[in-house]
Amino acid sequence: MKLLIVKLGGSVITDKRKPFAIKHTVVKRLAKELKGVPGPLVIVHGGGSFGHPLALKYRIADGYREKDQLMGVSLTHLAMEKLNKYLIEALQKEGIPAIAFQPSACVLSSDGRIKSMELGPLRRILALGLVPVLYGDVVFDVKKGFSILSGDQLVSYLARKLGATRVVFGVDVDGVYTSCPKRNDRAELLRVITPSDVKLVASMEKDETGDVTGGMQAKVRELLELAKFGVEAEIVNAARANVLKEALRGKRGLGTIVTGGK
Ligand code: ADP
Repeated sequence: MKLLIVKLGGSVITDKRKPFAIKHTVVKRLAKELKGVPGPLVIVHGGGSFGHPLALKYRIADGYREKDQLMGVSLTHLAMEKLNKYLIEALQKEGIPAIAFQPSACVLSSDGRIKSMELGPLRRILALGLVPVLYGDVVFDVKKGFSILSGDQLVSYLARKLGATRVVFGVDVDGVYTSCPKRNDRAELLRVITPSDVKLVASMEKDETGDVTGGMQAKVRELLELAKFGVEAEIVNAARANVLKEALRGKRGLGTIVTGGK
């Protein structure tokens, strides 16, 4: 099975500067680009301005500390479901048989990392030719009570467990730079990242987008872990028309490749 996994970044499908702001035109275009992808496809999306502000407000990533956080768990999850529903409807309009797949119902984590995930239904969904759409979510955690599972960690885990042949991350910049390209004019685009670049990745500063999941640095770390298992990923600019489409059709080198060896 030639499985493709695509991550639609929260920065692409929402406006991170405004709460609950979907980029409607972009979502419509991406749904068109996802149409006609050959073979099985898993879609995962990030939280953007839906999940992150609430998760931050209620300190969900810290785990259970006080009862008041429980409403935050409820609100954060619902916000993600709303974004998921919007995306699924956009995919349906393009004739893609998309189906929501709720991470919090099938993942158990331990200290913020996936400990186990019930993959049986997901495998059946893929075998039937449906397109599951998952997302970063509040998940239940054996050590912390609850925690945040980033869409990035989820992609990395699924790619390994389901044996993906290619992983494509759509973000709103041209790839991974030496530092944040929105804040540093001299940031240089990196074409390839391998495990030997671990120091470079550590030196990338954390961005200040209000993400509870660690931004670009955490994303690259997840992908370097995945690269160790022989699955190559590429981070591309999905805010530019047709870039994601071409990447999903097998074109390499459009952004930053994260791979196990040069
Ligand atoms: P997602 O789209 O998955 O929400 P993030 O917002 O976590 O992705 O990551 C993309 C953002 O990371 C970009 O919009 C950019 O502003 C920021 N960023 C910070 N550091 C870097 C870097 N070194 N290279 C590229 N982007 C970076």
